[in-house]
Amino acid sequence: MCFIMLGECNIVNEGLKVKLYPDKVMVDKFNRSLGNVRFVWNNLLTEYQKTFELFKQHGYTKLKCNQTTFNTMLTMLKKEYSFLYESESSTLQQVYRDLIRSFNGFFKKNSNYPKFKSKKNPKNGFRIQNNNNIKITSSIIVLPVLGEVHYRTSPQYKQLLKESKINNVTIKKEHNHYYAVFNIETEKQPMEKTDKAVGIDLGIRTLATLSNGLKITNLDTTHEDKMIKKYYRVLSRKKYNSNRYNKILKTLGKWIQRKTNRINDAYHKLSHYIVKNYDIICMESLDIKELFQNTDLSSRLQSISWKKLVEMIKYKCEWYGKKFIQISKWFPSSKICSQCGYYCKDLGDKKEWTCPHCQTHHDRDINAAKNIKKEGLRLLMDETFVNLRNWGDSTVILLSWESTGP
Ligand SMILES: [Zn+2]
Repeated sequence: MCFIMLGECNIVNEGLKVKLYPDKVMVDKFNRSLGNVRFVWNNLLTEYQKTFELFKQHGYTKLKCNQTTFNTMLTMLKKEYSFLYESESSTLQQVYRDLIRSFNGFFKKNSNYPKFKSKKNPKNGFRIQNNNNIKITSSIIVLPVLGEVHYRTSPQYKQLLKESKINNVTIKKEHNHYYAVFNIETEKQPMEKTDKAVGIDLGIRTLATLSNGLKITNLDTTHEDKMIKKYYRVLSRKKYNSNRYNKILKTLGKWIQRKTNRINDAYHKLSHYIVKNYDIICMESLDIKELFQNTDLSSRLQSISWKKLVEMIKYKCEWYGKKFIQISKWFPSSKICSQCGYYCKDLGDKKEWTCPHCQTHHDRDINAAKNIKKEGLRLLMDETFVNLRNWGDSTVILLSWESTGP
């Protein structure tokens, strides 16, 4: 297969989620492991905060975390609380790795300060490293320390699991449903070159507009949203952890998963289409900081879903040997005439407009996508100093767009 064309294949990491059907004993074991992970996380976080307070008294403003310190802390915790030995050792080590990653994100201002883990959070998980001790048959997964659990997935996924090298598995509990997410290594063949470039503009009603004029509307999830809202309301009236509560939580989880599956499916198809048909893909970059600070829930969810699509296109470009270019979020893609380069300062939120300079009539989104493509190709040329072929558009003359952002 791949070794014949060695050098052409890309070895990539991929996540693969399957549904688990644990029996009562296994549910109990899973919950104990989740509890241990929560216990270790909260203890390490407390210890860190205590140490940091000491350092603060001596004028330090930042305390870097390191693996050795956390590992020593973990060993001490295990000595004190022997129930931690019920969990696979790599699972507990993963906790401080996650904590370090969480702190690094915070120090880089990409995420909020790590929070304490609560039992009431409906989403929890723990990871097991594969040291050749995870076995998979067509219906059963055998996990180290924990034992056997039934699972279900598509025949394609089963085949992939059989063929691929498994790095680790994360057991997830989401609204009382259990899943296993496998991190596997697979081989990807580069896709055929098409000699085409594209600019993509993301929007609210029209999810994606391509510079060639193609518009992809956002998926309609009104029904799922309605059901999710309904079950959240019902859940809020039930007593926490009662039988009714857990049953409703499970139904709620089913609707949330259904919505996620539909969105993921649509995004996978769209990103695959784009990466297959274009060699150079230009998009606007999204502001991650803004995403975390945004308090309006619906626009926050919209940003999260855009980010998901951008990430999919990005990693598929890497997998299949295509070029992905992200342009500055300050680039005023909507306000420039893609025909003559005129900068229209007071465009407002008009969906269509006519350029006062060259009289070209523009669809707002298509014009933006064309500008994104041009700006992306300009950046690419700056980056490579290679005289690229003519990509089929006249060169745009930029008129003082720098004045729009800091
Ligand atoms: Zn014009």
